[in-house]
Amino acid sequence: MSGSMKLSLKLLVDKEKSRVVFAESDKDFVDILFSFLTLPIGTIVRLLGKKSSLGAMDRLYESVENLDARYFQTAPCKTMLLRPRNVSGVQCEGLALRVDDLEPLVYYRCPKKGFTCGFSSVPGVRCPCGQVMEVPFLANNLDRAEGSDGVFVRGPTSFLVSDDLSVRPVSTDASLALFQKLGIEDGSVLQERNVELGAQEVLNLLKRSLVSKRPLTDIFLQEPDMIDDADKSLKSMMAVITQTRVKYRSTATDSKRINVKLFLSKESDKVVYAEAREDLVDQLFSFLTFPLGSILKLLDKHSSLGCIDNLYESVELLSNSYNYMKSKECYDMLLAPKLPPYFGCDNQLLDIGEMCSQTIKVGHQSLDGIKTKYSYEMNPKLQTSGTETGGGFAKGMMTFMVTDEMEVTPLSPISAVHVINKLMVPINGLEEAHASLGEAEALHLLRACLISRTVLSDVFSPSLLTLLHERWCCRNRSKTLPQGHPTTSLQL
Ligand SMILES: [Zn+2]
Repeated sequence: MSGSMKLSLKLLVDKEKSRVVFAESDKDFVDILFSFLTLPIGTIVRLLGKKSSLGAMDRLYESVENLDARYFQTAPCKTMLLRPRNVSGVQCEGLALRVDDLEPLVYYRCPKKGFTCGFSSVPGVRCPCGQVMEVPFLANNLDRAEGSDGVFVRGPTSFLVSDDLSVRPVSTDASLALFQKLGIEDGSVLQERNVELGAQEVLNLLKRSLVSKRPLTDIFLQEPDMIDDADKSLKSMMAVITQTRVKYRSTATDSKRINVKLFLSKESDKVVYAEAREDLVDQLFSFLTFPLGSILKLLDKHSSLGCIDNLYESVELLSNSYNYMKSKECYDMLLAPKLPPYFGCDNQLLDIGEMCSQTIKVGHQSLDGIKTKYSYEMNPKLQTSGTETGGGFAKGMMTFMVTDEMEVTPLSPISAVHVINKLMVPINGLEEAHASLGEAEALHLLRACLISRTVLSDVFSPSLLTLLHERWCCRNRSKTLPQGHPTTSLQL
């Protein structure tokens, strides 16, 4: 991060209501805001010190941290989830203030001389020669953002950034519209204020943009202890969810499904935990690698996260109506960011693109002159070195326990008892149900992980399961019902 660098920002403040009406800025500030969309969830959680307020994502991240390396396909899988690469990392190097501190141009190779083997974006991957690739090197990347003409946004225009992060080119219309929206009739309540934005303010802004509808006011006008705590904003978001509906894409084509065994307490209407194979764990862990922009795309701009949806819409608007984006590539980097090479997962059900792996051309001095050889990027998820895509993060042939709050551990009857006791539900009141996830349910799960701390109960609430079970019973009244625990098959 560019240590002491500061960016100045001009705010128009409504001093009576002590709130920011808008910020007037050049494209440097807008580029920083837009770069939030390129950040993978795992990076956001890490930068915000596991206090991201993103539902259960902090807990999911902690689960990866706490899970022993032997429960992953390879040790580097853990690094991929805890320090996911940003495919726009090279472009983001050009930001006036960098948000992510990962070095995007560092790769790793084996200690063998001559660079004829493979390389990887993650340290610790097995090289085709059998050694471990741990020697860092800097790749020469031609895509490095050059010069002064912005990272994502171009032109000399100034922008208006509203308190809820809608970005518009400056115009009288735009500012009048904001005055009207905020009910400001008397210009004498307005005051200009100059503020400075440093690395810490950028992180605060990232955090507040995910939970608040007025992040600029929160950061520049509120005393830190006046800001609503995360829990409160989480509750207000939960209220919103019931109103907005996620538009699921058709799942007609999905063939892959993830089966999961749930243990419910009907008394408290909670899913206590799920017994899952590596496919569900891969689906959940993959969320940490998803860039924010791709999540907003999957959720069709209905994430209910603070005001981040406005940022996404602003990119669309600046591009479609004003042609302010530098290129189509920049547009895609923000609105449909892809996963880095090999970060895709066979068991992952949601539609998100993956970048192609890279090849490095190396010149070798030999007796006949310089010979060109190629070095290939290796898939860190494969136990034997290789360049085929896919694979998974979690170890196969394992059973995991996933709690309602997204604590993922290897299944152990003793820890199951701990979980049951913690929730204070009677053990004999526990019921078993079977559920199956397709693409639509995976999307539901993603959304719940972002905004809720009782993810399984939200997605597979026992009352919903009961309802489905009763319907099933009605349909099959003529048949004899099985004895013992009711076993429900859920297809949401
Ligand atoms: Zn090697």
